[in-house]
Amino acid sequence: MTTAIHLGLLMHLFVVGPQLGPGEYIRIERLSPRVVLAYWPGIDRRCNLTAIQSQKGLVIIDTEVSPGVMAPIKEKIEQAFHRRDWAYVINTHAHDNHCSGNCLFKGAVIVGHNNLPEDMQWLIRRQTEPDWKRRELDHVASILRNLRAALPQSAGNRMYTRLIRSDITFYELFVKDLEEGYEVVKPSLMFADRHTLDLGDLTLELIFFGKGHSLCDTLVYIPQERVLVTGAIAYQRGQLPEIGEQSQLQDVHRFLAVLDSLLGNCVKIDHVIPSHSAPLQRSDLPPIRDYYQRMLTEVQAARQQGLTLEQTLARLAVRTKFPAFRDPPPGHWGYGMQERNVKNLWRILSEEQPQPQPQNVQH
Ligand SMILES: [Zn+2]
Repeated sequence: MTTAIHLGLLMHLFVVGPQLGPGEYIRIERLSPRVVLAYWPGIDRRCNLTAIQSQKGLVIIDTEVSPGVMAPIKEKIEQAFHRRDWAYVINTHAHDNHCSGNCLFKGAVIVGHNNLPEDMQWLIRRQTEPDWKRRELDHVASILRNLRAALPQSAGNRMYTRLIRSDITFYELFVKDLEEGYEVVKPSLMFADRHTLDLGDLTLELIFFGKGHSLCDTLVYIPQERVLVTGAIAYQRGQLPEIGEQSQLQDVHRFLAVLDSLLGNCVKIDHVIPSHSAPLQRSDLPPIRDYYQRMLTEVQAARQQGLTLEQTLARLAVRTKFPAFRDPPPGHWGYGMQERNVKNLWRILSEEQPQPQPQNVQH
């Protein structure tokens, strides 16, 4: 019996490999002596955390989905820099995988846009409202069931197996934190438009993008390192930019103004760090800027020509009008993004009285 169990275990290890400790899944990619990217790989789940070392201490931009997930990543970053003097935590927005590990950085100043504290409130409600908490736990439980079911079938593919195992460990830690509860720490240093953090040898320029992907989207530019951390503004290559339910015309104008300012000749950018993919380049930014400009121009023109919303939707199909982007397939969280964007922009323009003339919207 014992031998059979041992043989079974050996076969299991041979086929799917051993379950590793959390730290062994985490990737640290060094962009420069002062900047690293840290992330926990998964099948369809990557969230970039940017860590910076400076004369005034360590800084992290975004803190993953829960403290249990963030803890081993934090440890890896500290090992990479041989120090643990955390000075600042910056949250690019209030979605859970960007600000749920803040409580691990005791003593550091948490920084975010003025809208961030209120936007983070949902993380508390998800823990305190039983139905919401149950729904979230059920959702993650189903993800874990699917991952465990996929494990035996992935046996011939070591890389895929490792990613499944990586996901399982990630979600197990997340579930534990959701079940037990964790402290949600909101920012103590906030800003409205722009804010500069002086780190001695480095400066971090924080820029509010406007209400789009969320209510508090923040980009961080590090001129000395020629690095731009975009949060979810450049989500990943090909991902449609967003115009949100709460976007106003002033937000769309702000998107354009911010992108124009970053694309100016005096702004040097070698690395664009998106929220959820491998690093991008400066050349990935103009299509985002052009998308917003073209959407604004086209929806305004359609309204002036008396087109219906349905006709405008047909005219602004992603495949023909915006070939740099793709509308994800059904089932993907981003499915229908273009339709939502057009509808939101239509709503924004219909709220404007009188309708702005095209020449007023050019930058
Ligand atoms: Zn997000």
